[in-house]
Amino acid sequence: SEKLITPEHKEEDFPEKSLRPRALGEFIGQEPICANLRIFIEAARSRGEALDHVLFCGPPGLGKTTLAQIIATELGVGFKTTTGPMISKAGDLAAILTNLQSHDVLFIDEIHRLNPTIEEVLYPAMEDFKLDLMIGEGPSARAIRIDLPPFTLVAATTRTGLITSPLRDRFGIPIRLEYYTVPELELIVERAARLLDLSISPDGIREIATRSRGTPRIAGRLLRRVRDFADVARVGQVSAEIADNALTRLGVDPRGFDHLDCRFLELIAKTFQGGPVGIETIAAALSEQRDTLEEVVEPYFIQQGFLQRTSRGRVLTLEAFKYLKLPAPTLL
Ligand code: ADP
Repeated sequence: SEKLITPEHKEEDFPEKSLRPRALGEFIGQEPICANLRIFIEAARSRGEALDHVLFCGPPGLGKTTLAQIIATELGVGFKTTTGPMISKAGDLAAILTNLQSHDVLFIDEIHRLNPTIEEVLYPAMEDFKLDLMIGEGPSARAIRIDLPPFTLVAATTRTGLITSPLRDRFGIPIRLEYYTVPELELIVERAARLLDLSISPDGIREIATRSRGTPRIAGRLLRRVRDFADVARVGQVSAEIADNALTRLGVDPRGFDHLDCRFLELIAKTFQGGPVGIETIAAALSEQRDTLEEVVEPYFIQQGFLQRTSRGRVLTLEAFKYLKLPAPTLL
C-alpha cells in the first residue's frame, strides 16, 4: 500500500542486519531497560541458571528482535527464532523445544498470534520445563511427559492487549519498549551512517532523526533512501537541505508523518469533526487494515498527544488541529 514507512520487516531491510547492535553496550536508548537486563543476565550467569522468560511489548521497529538476540549473546547461549503464526500444531512446538540446548534463548515473535491450544502446551514448558503430549488417538491415546532442558523464552508482541493473562503472568520479566527520543535517534542515525560509510552533517542527522517517528527501523530506512538521493546527485556530504528534499519527495512530512498518517488525521478532523469515531469506521473509510491503524498509526499519534482513545471512539486533540492548521470544533 502507500505506507512507505510501515515499520514491518521488508526485503529491503535485509542489510538492516549489518546495522543491528550486537551487544548491550552498542544498543542506544531504552536505558533503564538495558540497565535492568544487564543485572538479570549477570545474575542468571553467576547462578548458572537459565534467564527468566522475557516478554517485549511495543510498536514494530523499536528493537524487540535486536534485544532478544543481544540477550542470547550476552548470556553466551544459543538463539533459536520462530513466530506465533508459524507454530500451527503442538508437534511444531514440541520439535522446537526438544531441540533446544540447556539455557538457550527461544525467540517467538508475534506471540499474540499463537494458537490458543498451543498456548496450553507452552505453560508447563515455561513453568516446569516439561512437555505434555498426547500420543496416538481414541481409546489407545495416552499422555506422555517429556523433560526439557531449562531455556529462556523471549517473546515479542505489538499488542499486549491480545495476550491472555495466564500467558502474560508466566513471563518473569515483562518489558515495554517506548518510542525513542530525537537525541537517541540522532545517535542511531549517526552510528548507521558510520557503518554505511556515509558522510552526513549534524543537521542532516537531526533532520532524519526528527522525521523517523521515534522508530530506529524507520531511521535506518530513511537514511538509506536519503543516501540514494545523495549518491545520484553526487553530493559529497548529506546536509539538512538534501535530507529534507529527499524526505519530502518520499512523502514524509516535517514531523515524520507519512501519507497514511496524514489521511488518518484529516479524515477524523474534517469528516468526523475531530471525533469521537470508531476504529472500524476509520479503517473502512481509509480502506486500510484495522491492525495497521492500531499497531502502527495510532500509537505514535497517542504518544505525540494528537489522539485519544476513548470508550466512545477516537478523538483528535487541540494539538492535532493546530498542526493541521484547522479550526478546532468548539467542544475541544
Ligand atoms: P522489532 O523487533 O521491535 O520490530 P528490530 O529489533 O527488528 O525491531 O529493530 C529494527 C532495526 O532497528 C534493527 O535491525 C536495528 O538496525 C535497528 N535498531 C533497533 N533498535 C536499535 C537501537 N536501540 N540502536 C540502534 N539500532 C537499533
